[in-house]
Amino acid sequence: MGLNSSGRTETLRQLMADKGVEGMLISQPENRLYVSGFSGSAGYLFVTHTLAVLATDFRYVEQSKLQAPGYELFQISGKVEEWFPKLVGEAGLTRFGFESENVSVAFARQLNDALAKAGLKIELVPVEGLVEAIRVVKEPEEIGLISEAVRISDQAMTHMIAFIEAGMTEKRVAWEIEKYMREHDSQSVPFEVLVQSGPNSALPHAQPSERRIGTGEPVVMDIGAKAGWYASDLTRTICVGKPDAKFKKIYDTVLGAQLAAIALIKEGMTGDQADSFARTIIKEARHGDAFGHSLGHGVGLAVHEAPRLGPNSADVLRNGMVFSVEPGIYLPGWGGVRIEDLATLENGKIKVLSAAPKIDR
Ligand code: ZN
Ligand code: ZN
Repeated sequence: MGLNSSGRTETLRQLMADKGVEGMLISQPENRLYVSGFSGSAGYLFVTHTLAVLATDFRYVEQSKLQAPGYELFQISGKVEEWFPKLVGEAGLTRFGFESENVSVAFARQLNDALAKAGLKIELVPVEGLVEAIRVVKEPEEIGLISEAVRISDQAMTHMIAFIEAGMTEKRVAWEIEKYMREHDSQSVPFEVLVQSGPNSALPHAQPSERRIGTGEPVVMDIGAKAGWYASDLTRTICVGKPDAKFKKIYDTVLGAQLAAIALIKEGMTGDQADSFARTIIKEARHGDAFGHSLGHGVGLAVHEAPRLGPNSADVLRNGMVFSVEPGIYLPGWGGVRIEDLATLENGKIKVLSAAPKIDR
Protein backbone atom coordinates (compact mmCIF):
# COMPACT_ATOMS: atom_id res chain seq x y z
CA MET A 1 0.00 0.00 0.00
CA GLY A 2 3.09 2.22 0.08
CA LEU A 3 2.38 4.44 3.05
CA ASN A 4 5.15 6.86 3.88
CA SER A 5 6.08 4.88 6.98
CA SER A 6 9.70 5.97 7.47
CA GLY A 7 8.83 9.68 7.70
CA ARG A 8 6.01 8.93 10.12
CA THR A 9 8.25 6.82 12.37
CA GLU A 10 10.73 9.72 12.49
CA THR A 11 7.98 12.18 13.42
CA LEU A 12 6.79 9.79 16.13
CA ARG A 13 10.34 9.71 17.56
CA GLN A 14 10.38 13.51 17.81
CA LEU A 15 7.05 13.50 19.68
CA MET A 16 8.35 10.72 21.97
CA ALA A 17 11.29 12.93 22.89
CA ASP A 18 8.87 15.78 23.72
CA LYS A 19 6.94 13.44 26.02
CA GLY A 20 10.13 12.23 27.70
CA VAL A 21 9.76 8.57 26.75
CA GLU A 22 12.53 6.52 25.14
CA GLY A 23 10.19 4.12 23.43
CA MET A 24 6.52 3.50 22.61
CA LEU A 25 4.34 0.44 22.26
CA ILE A 26 1.84 1.25 19.51
CA SER A 27 -1.22 -1.01 19.77
CA GLN A 28 -4.13 1.06 18.40
CA PRO A 29 -4.96 -0.57 15.02
CA GLU A 30 -5.17 2.60 12.89
CA ASN A 31 -2.04 4.02 14.52
CA ARG A 32 -0.19 0.78 13.87
CA LEU A 33 -1.24 0.86 10.21
CA TYR A 34 -0.44 4.56 9.84
CA VAL A 35 3.06 4.36 11.28
CA SER A 36 4.22 1.03 9.81
CA GLY A 37 1.97 0.19 6.85
CA PHE A 38 0.97 -3.11 8.50
CA SER A 39 -2.78 -3.72 8.21
CA GLY A 40 -3.05 -6.98 10.17
CA SER A 41 -5.54 -7.16 13.01
CA ALA A 42 -3.04 -8.08 15.75
CA GLY A 43 0.42 -6.87 16.69
CA TYR A 44 2.42 -4.14 18.36
CA LEU A 45 4.92 -1.63 17.11
CA PHE A 46 7.92 -1.22 19.34
CA VAL A 47 9.55 2.08 18.46
CA THR A 48 12.62 3.55 20.16
CA HIS A 49 15.04 6.20 18.93
CA THR A 50 17.07 3.49 17.18
CA LEU A 51 14.67 0.56 16.77
CA ALA A 52 11.54 -0.01 14.72
CA VAL A 53 10.10 -3.44 15.46
CA LEU A 54 6.78 -5.04 14.52
CA ALA A 55 5.86 -7.69 17.07
CA THR A 56 3.17 -10.01 15.75
CA ASP A 57 2.26 -13.69 15.73
CA PHE A 58 2.87 -16.40 13.12
CA ARG A 59 -0.34 -15.61 11.19
CA TYR A 60 1.04 -12.27 10.05
CA VAL A 61 4.71 -13.05 9.34
CA GLU A 62 4.47 -12.91 5.53
CA GLN A 63 2.06 -9.98 5.48
CA SER A 64 4.23 -7.89 7.79
CA LYS A 65 7.32 -8.43 5.63
CA LEU A 66 5.42 -7.16 2.59
CA GLN A 67 3.58 -4.25 4.19
CA ALA A 68 6.13 -3.00 6.72
CA PRO A 69 9.57 -3.43 5.15
CA GLY A 70 10.94 -0.64 7.34
CA TYR A 71 10.13 -2.67 10.47
CA GLU A 72 12.10 -5.55 11.88
CA LEU A 73 9.86 -8.55 12.53
CA PHE A 74 9.70 -9.99 16.04
CA GLN A 75 7.51 -13.07 16.22
CA ILE A 76 5.52 -13.34 19.42
CA SER A 77 3.48 -16.14 20.97
CA GLY A 78 1.96 -16.95 24.30
CA LYS A 79 1.73 -14.72 27.33
CA VAL A 80 2.98 -11.14 27.57
CA GLU A 81 5.67 -12.18 30.08
CA GLU A 82 7.18 -14.48 27.47
CA TRP A 83 7.93 -11.76 24.90
CA PHE A 84 7.55 -8.24 26.32
CA PRO A 85 10.57 -8.26 28.73
CA LYS A 86 12.77 -9.62 25.91
CA LEU A 87 11.75 -6.77 23.63
CA VAL A 88 12.22 -3.92 26.09
CA GLY A 89 15.03 -5.48 28.13
CA GLU A 90 17.48 -5.61 25.24
CA ALA A 91 16.77 -1.99 24.30
CA GLY A 92 18.06 -0.74 27.68
CA LEU A 93 15.16 1.65 28.36
CA THR A 94 14.16 3.41 31.57
CA ARG A 95 10.89 5.15 30.50
CA PHE A 96 8.62 3.39 28.03
CA GLY A 97 5.25 4.68 26.82
CA PHE A 98 2.04 2.85 25.93
CA GLU A 99 -1.16 4.14 24.35
CA SER A 100 -3.38 4.60 27.38
CA GLU A 101 -6.51 5.27 25.32
CA ASN A 102 -6.18 1.87 23.67
CA VAL A 103 -4.63 -0.37 26.32
CA SER A 104 -6.95 -1.93 28.91
CA VAL A 105 -6.18 -1.66 32.61
CA ALA A 106 -5.74 -5.44 32.64
CA PHE A 107 -3.18 -5.37 29.81
CA ALA A 108 -1.23 -2.49 31.40
CA ARG A 109 -1.03 -4.57 34.58
CA GLN A 110 0.23 -7.56 32.59
CA LEU A 111 2.97 -5.41 31.05
CA ASN A 112 4.01 -4.14 34.50
CA ASP A 113 3.91 -7.60 36.05
CA ALA A 114 5.99 -9.01 33.18
CA LEU A 115 8.70 -6.37 33.74
CA ALA A 116 8.70 -6.94 37.51
CA LYS A 117 8.95 -10.72 37.07
CA ALA A 118 11.92 -10.27 34.74
CA GLY A 119 13.59 -7.93 37.26
CA LEU A 120 13.54 -4.98 34.86
CA LYS A 121 13.29 -1.48 36.33
CA ILE A 122 11.45 0.24 33.50
CA GLU A 123 8.77 2.85 34.14
CA LEU A 124 5.68 2.35 31.98
CA VAL A 125 4.22 5.74 31.06
CA PRO A 126 0.63 6.20 29.84
CA VAL A 127 0.69 8.45 26.75
CA GLU A 128 -2.29 9.94 24.89
CA GLY A 129 -2.78 11.08 21.33
CA LEU A 130 0.80 10.86 20.05
CA VAL A 131 0.20 9.19 16.68
CA GLU A 132 -3.23 10.83 16.46
CA ALA A 133 -1.44 14.21 16.50
CA ILE A 134 0.49 13.18 13.37
CA ARG A 135 -2.55 11.62 11.68
CA VAL A 136 -4.67 14.75 12.04
CA VAL A 137 -2.91 16.57 9.19
CA LYS A 138 -3.17 14.52 6.01
CA GLU A 139 -0.48 14.08 3.38
CA PRO A 140 -1.57 14.68 -0.25
CA GLU A 141 -1.55 10.91 -0.85
CA GLU A 142 -4.00 10.43 2.03
CA ILE A 143 -6.31 13.15 0.73
CA GLY A 144 -6.19 11.33 -2.62
CA LEU A 145 -7.40 8.09 -0.99
CA ILE A 146 -10.12 9.89 1.00
CA SER A 147 -11.24 11.57 -2.25
CA GLU A 148 -11.47 8.14 -3.87
CA ALA A 149 -13.71 6.92 -1.01
CA VAL A 150 -15.73 10.15 -1.33
CA ARG A 151 -16.22 9.52 -5.06
CA ILE A 152 -17.64 6.04 -4.35
CA SER A 153 -20.10 7.27 -1.69
CA ASP A 154 -21.13 10.20 -3.94
CA GLN A 155 -21.94 7.74 -6.73
CA ALA A 156 -23.85 5.49 -4.34
CA MET A 157 -25.89 8.43 -3.05
CA THR A 158 -26.69 9.60 -6.58
CA HIS A 159 -27.81 6.06 -7.40
CA MET A 160 -29.99 5.93 -4.28
CA ILE A 161 -31.77 9.21 -4.99
CA ALA A 162 -33.00 7.65 -8.26
CA PHE A 163 -33.59 4.18 -6.75
CA ILE A 164 -35.55 4.92 -3.59
CA GLU A 165 -39.36 4.59 -3.68
CA ALA A 166 -42.15 4.85 -1.17
CA GLY A 167 -42.99 1.45 0.31
CA MET A 168 -39.38 0.20 0.48
CA THR A 169 -38.16 -0.70 3.95
CA GLU A 170 -35.20 1.12 5.50
CA LYS A 171 -33.30 -2.20 5.56
CA ARG A 172 -33.90 -2.78 1.85
CA VAL A 173 -32.55 0.69 1.04
CA ALA A 174 -29.54 0.25 3.36
CA TRP A 175 -28.65 -3.04 1.70
CA GLU A 176 -28.89 -1.49 -1.80
CA ILE A 177 -26.45 1.25 -0.72
CA GLU A 178 -23.98 -1.23 0.77
CA LYS A 179 -24.22 -3.53 -2.27
CA TYR A 180 -23.69 -0.61 -4.64
CA MET A 181 -20.59 0.62 -2.81
CA ARG A 182 -19.09 -2.89 -2.63
CA GLU A 183 -19.74 -3.42 -6.34
CA HIS A 184 -18.09 -0.07 -7.09
CA ASP A 185 -14.74 -0.88 -5.45
CA SER A 186 -15.36 0.18 -1.88
CA GLN A 187 -12.81 -1.83 0.12
CA SER A 188 -15.41 -2.40 2.86
CA VAL A 189 -17.93 -0.20 4.64
CA PRO A 190 -16.32 1.77 7.47
CA PHE A 191 -19.59 1.89 9.46
CA GLU A 192 -23.06 0.42 9.17
CA VAL A 193 -25.13 2.26 6.56
CA LEU A 194 -27.83 4.35 8.26
CA VAL A 195 -31.24 4.79 6.66
CA GLN A 196 -33.88 6.48 8.80
CA SER A 197 -37.33 7.49 7.63
CA GLY A 198 -40.12 9.57 9.13
CA PRO A 199 -40.00 9.74 12.96
CA ASN A 200 -36.96 7.37 12.98
CA SER A 201 -34.90 10.15 11.40
CA ALA A 202 -35.19 12.14 14.64
CA LEU A 203 -32.86 9.56 16.23
CA PRO A 204 -29.41 10.27 14.74
CA HIS A 205 -28.10 6.74 15.34
CA ALA A 206 -31.14 4.48 14.88
CA GLN A 207 -30.34 1.32 12.90
CA PRO A 208 -32.24 0.59 9.65
CA SER A 209 -35.55 -1.11 10.48
CA GLU A 210 -38.42 -2.86 8.70
CA ARG A 211 -40.29 0.46 8.58
CA ARG A 212 -41.62 1.27 5.12
CA ILE A 213 -40.73 4.67 3.71
CA GLY A 214 -43.76 6.90 3.19
CA THR A 215 -44.29 9.80 0.80
CA GLY A 216 -43.60 13.33 1.98
CA GLU A 217 -41.46 12.35 4.94
CA PRO A 218 -37.73 12.90 5.52
CA VAL A 219 -35.32 10.05 4.78
CA VAL A 220 -31.82 10.44 6.20
CA MET A 221 -29.08 8.33 4.61
CA ASP A 222 -25.65 8.39 6.27
CA ILE A 223 -23.10 6.32 4.37
CA GLY A 224 -19.36 5.79 4.00
CA ALA A 225 -17.05 4.02 1.58
CA LYS A 226 -13.43 2.94 1.99
CA ALA A 227 -10.44 3.20 -0.35
CA GLY A 228 -6.88 2.18 0.57
CA TRP A 229 -7.98 1.97 4.24
CA TYR A 230 -9.32 5.56 4.20
CA ALA A 231 -12.99 6.31 4.88
CA SER A 232 -15.56 8.74 3.60
CA ASP A 233 -18.64 9.97 5.45
CA LEU A 234 -21.67 11.44 3.66
CA THR A 235 -25.24 12.25 4.65
CA ARG A 236 -28.16 13.36 2.53
CA THR A 237 -31.77 13.88 3.54
CA ILE A 238 -34.34 13.39 0.83
CA CYS A 239 -38.10 13.33 0.57
CA VAL A 240 -39.93 10.78 -1.57
CA GLY A 241 -42.78 12.63 -3.24
CA LYS A 242 -43.63 16.26 -2.57
CA PRO A 243 -42.11 17.80 0.55
CA ASP A 244 -44.50 19.85 2.68
CA ALA A 245 -43.84 23.36 4.00
CA LYS A 246 -42.42 22.07 7.28
CA PHE A 247 -39.91 19.81 5.55
CA LYS A 248 -38.84 22.67 3.28
CA LYS A 249 -38.38 25.05 6.18
CA ILE A 250 -36.31 22.61 8.26
CA TYR A 251 -34.29 21.52 5.24
CA ASP A 252 -33.53 25.10 4.22
CA THR A 253 -32.40 25.97 7.74
CA VAL A 254 -30.01 23.01 7.88
CA LEU A 255 -28.69 23.66 4.38
CA GLY A 256 -28.29 27.38 5.14
CA ALA A 257 -26.35 26.51 8.30
CA GLN A 258 -24.12 24.09 6.40
CA LEU A 259 -23.41 26.52 3.55
CA ALA A 260 -22.61 29.30 6.04
CA ALA A 261 -20.13 27.07 7.84
CA ILE A 262 -18.54 26.04 4.53
CA ALA A 263 -18.23 29.70 3.49
CA LEU A 264 -16.79 30.92 6.79
CA ILE A 265 -14.48 28.17 8.12
CA LYS A 266 -10.81 29.15 7.65
CA GLU A 267 -7.44 27.88 8.72
CA GLY A 268 -6.44 28.89 12.26
CA MET A 269 -9.95 28.82 13.73
CA THR A 270 -10.86 26.58 16.63
CA GLY A 271 -13.37 23.76 16.36
CA ASP A 272 -15.64 25.81 18.60
CA GLN A 273 -15.61 28.80 16.22
CA ALA A 274 -16.27 26.56 13.21
CA ASP A 275 -19.23 24.99 14.98
CA SER A 276 -20.69 28.36 15.97
CA PHE A 277 -21.36 29.51 12.37
CA ALA A 278 -23.89 26.74 11.77
CA ARG A 279 -25.21 26.70 15.33
CA THR A 280 -26.04 30.42 15.28
CA ILE A 281 -28.24 29.98 12.21
CA ILE A 282 -30.05 26.99 13.71
CA LYS A 283 -30.54 28.89 16.99
CA GLU A 284 -31.93 31.90 15.14
CA ALA A 285 -34.49 29.56 13.54
CA ARG A 286 -35.41 28.56 17.13
CA HIS A 287 -34.12 25.02 16.72
CA GLY A 288 -30.97 25.36 18.85
CA ASP A 289 -32.12 22.54 21.17
CA ALA A 290 -32.74 20.27 18.19
CA PHE A 291 -29.08 20.33 17.02
CA GLY A 292 -27.74 18.04 19.71
CA HIS A 293 -24.40 17.02 18.23
CA SER A 294 -21.17 18.63 17.04
CA LEU A 295 -20.88 20.22 13.60
CA GLY A 296 -18.18 17.83 12.48
CA HIS A 297 -15.27 15.48 13.09
CA GLY A 298 -12.03 14.49 11.42
CA VAL A 299 -12.10 11.57 8.96
CA GLY A 300 -9.17 9.45 7.82
CA LEU A 301 -8.19 5.88 8.64
CA ALA A 302 -10.96 6.14 11.25
CA VAL A 303 -14.41 7.57 10.55
CA HIS A 304 -14.26 9.59 13.74
CA GLU A 305 -10.92 11.15 14.58
CA ALA A 306 -9.44 14.55 15.39
CA PRO A 307 -10.20 17.41 14.98
CA ARG A 308 -13.58 17.94 16.64
CA LEU A 309 -15.69 20.81 15.32
CA GLY A 310 -18.05 21.39 18.21
CA PRO A 311 -18.87 23.53 21.23
CA ASN A 312 -15.83 24.05 23.49
CA SER A 313 -13.42 22.35 21.07
CA ALA A 314 -10.02 24.05 21.24
CA ASP A 315 -8.71 21.98 18.29
CA VAL A 316 -7.13 24.41 15.82
CA LEU A 317 -8.01 23.82 12.17
CA ARG A 318 -4.96 23.46 9.94
CA ASN A 319 -4.27 23.04 6.24
CA GLY A 320 -4.40 19.36 5.31
CA MET A 321 -7.02 18.41 7.88
CA VAL A 322 -10.07 16.56 6.56
CA PHE A 323 -13.35 16.89 8.45
CA SER A 324 -17.11 16.62 8.09
CA VAL A 325 -19.53 19.55 8.13
CA GLU A 326 -22.85 18.06 9.23
CA PRO A 327 -25.45 20.22 10.95
CA GLY A 328 -28.82 18.66 11.72
CA ILE A 329 -32.21 19.39 13.23
CA TYR A 330 -34.11 16.55 14.95
CA LEU A 331 -37.73 16.96 16.02
CA PRO A 332 -39.11 14.02 18.05
CA GLY A 333 -42.22 12.53 16.47
CA TRP A 334 -41.68 14.29 13.14
CA GLY A 335 -38.18 13.41 12.01
CA GLY A 336 -34.84 14.93 11.25
CA VAL A 337 -32.71 16.54 8.58
CA ARG A 338 -28.92 16.21 8.42
CA ILE A 339 -26.65 17.22 5.55
CA GLU A 340 -23.02 16.10 5.71
CA ASP A 341 -20.09 16.77 3.41
CA LEU A 342 -16.39 16.15 3.79
CA ALA A 343 -14.04 19.09 3.40
CA THR A 344 -10.35 19.82 3.65
CA LEU A 345 -8.40 23.02 4.27
CA GLU A 346 -6.11 24.02 1.42
CA ASN A 347 -4.16 27.29 1.33
CA GLY A 348 -6.12 28.48 4.34
CA LYS A 349 -9.51 27.93 2.72
CA ILE A 350 -12.08 25.19 2.80
CA LYS A 351 -12.42 22.84 -0.15
CA VAL A 352 -15.48 20.59 -0.21
CA LEU A 353 -14.59 17.07 -1.32
CA SER A 354 -18.06 15.53 -1.66
CA ALA A 355 -20.34 16.31 -4.59
CA ALA A 356 -23.50 14.23 -4.09
CA PRO A 357 -26.59 16.23 -5.08
CA LYS A 358 -28.67 18.12 -2.51
CA ILE A 359 -32.28 19.22 -2.82
CA ASP A 360 -32.36 22.61 -4.58
CA ARG A 361 -33.29 25.52 -2.38
ZN1 ZN B 1 -21.99 10.44 8.63
ZN1 ZN C 1 -19.93 12.21 10.25
